Amino acid sequence: MSKVLILPGDGIGKEIVAQALKVIDYLNENHNLGMELIHGLVGGSAYDETGSPLPQETLDAAHNCDSILLGAVGGYEWESLPRDLRPERGLLGLRSELDLFSNLRPAILYPQLASASTLREEIVSGLDLMIVRELVAGIYFGQPRGVEERNGEKFGFNTATYSESQIERIGHSAFQIAQKRNKRVCSVDKANVLEVCELWRDTMERVGKNYPDVELSHMYVDNAAMQLVRQPKQFDVMVTSNLFGDVLSDCAAMLTGSIGMLPSASLNKDNVGMYEPIHGSAPDIAGQDIANPLATILSVSMMLRYSLNQSDLADKIDQSIVKVLDQGYRTRDIASDGDNIIGTNEMGDRVVEALKG
Ligand code: NAD
Repeated sequence: MSKVLILPGDGIGKEIVAQALKVIDYLNENHNLGMELIHGLVGGSAYDETGSPLPQETLDAAHNCDSILLGAVGGYEWESLPRDLRPERGLLGLRSELDLFSNLRPAILYPQLASASTLREEIVSGLDLMIVRELVAGIYFGQPRGVEERNGEKFGFNTATYSESQIERIGHSAFQIAQKRNKRVCSVDKANVLEVCELWRDTMERVGKNYPDVELSHMYVDNAAMQLVRQPKQFDVMVTSNLFGDVLSDCAAMLTGSIGMLPSASLNKDNVGMYEPIHGSAPDIAGQDIANPLATILSVSMMLRYSLNQSDLADKIDQSIVKVLDQGYRTRDIASDGDNIIGTNEMGDRVVEALKG
């Protein structure tokens, strides 16, 4: 039995998580999924009820579960709150409390949706790439940092730091993910200029020796950015630092042209993970039954694959989504001429129908 904390959050979060719950309920009842659900509050809605975007009760539940499914947080009504009380604090608090250092961002482009990309169909159709980004260290956290007065002018500085152990653990994470995929890791750095990246590269080489079945290559980040738009299908797993991963993962996501289709995961050393769609709470469309729930349903699939060791059921979910797309059903954000446009709720129902076989 696995324990999963469900945090719908704000905006469309509640609507899309409700669809993922339909899938979980179906698999619990019919395929021995064995998932026990705990429900909690996070983000703006948590602030409204408890005065905190990350209530202690949610934090305690997070520490006692095997995984978390999160919808999204944020919204106009909380934008003027002090920084520490804003919805995003809930998310950042969970990441740091659980030490979720390994951020998995797949970029998948279903052939049925290839026309949504800004790139030519033959370049992106069938794209299936995983970016593994180090999430809790690097230049975003390095000390010293600040803006101060030097020689009569303002001077800004940040520090890019990585310890060997921080690189090792993200390396192991990437190689283990590659073992479940096509067994190729491309480590992205800037080792020709930055010492911290020299250490990154040497450490990746060393970690890679533990995974003789996985092929390791290295690429400078400028070339990687170029290759991502030139020939993205050459990559299987890309592993990189916090800063480079931030930029490259958004670039890869946009290759697919459909923000409502992309899940993500953030894992700690015990493979406890927080799974969530990459998009936000979309307050502009909240409550209208038009949000695409597929990224959230795909987040459940990732959870089964990477935290709960139930790849067979993950495959089942993935296949049912392909089936629904094959049948021509689309939410508005991924529709083209001639498609059958359906709402959030119906999309959830269609996926469950497809699961039935
Ligand atoms: P957003 O991702 O919420 O929305 C961007 C655009 O994409 C909007 O037009 C929206 O309607 C559309 N969109 C997003 N998800 C969709 C879906 N599932 N189906 C159909 N269309 C979808 O980004 P934003 O507008 O910049 O931010 C809105 C709020 O979300 C802000 O408060 C922001 O801080 C927050 N946010 C939260 C997260 C998170 O919870 N992980 C991530 C990003 C932004």
